[in-house]
Amino acid sequence: MKVFVDQDRCVASGQCVFAADGVFDQRDEDGIAVVLDDSPPDDRRAEVQDAAAGCPAVAITVEG
Ligand code: SF4
Repeated sequence: MKVFVDQDRCVASGQCVFAADGVFDQRDEDGIAVVLDDSPPDDRRAEVQDAAAGCPAVAITVEG
């Protein structure tokens, strides 16, 4: 599984961090999401998919 965030789309809502803390974080300066772990283990798949589904900006892509 590979995880990407389109930072140009991100609106800094923070849901992804709530859904999958440790995979996503927010920049201190503006709250834009960053991917901390772009290849998370498979046992986190449900959390990552919840984060992608819950992103109001549809900024998260999950491949594989
Ligand atoms: S849920 Fe989407 S819009 Fe909100 S911080 Fe995460 S990537 Fe950005």
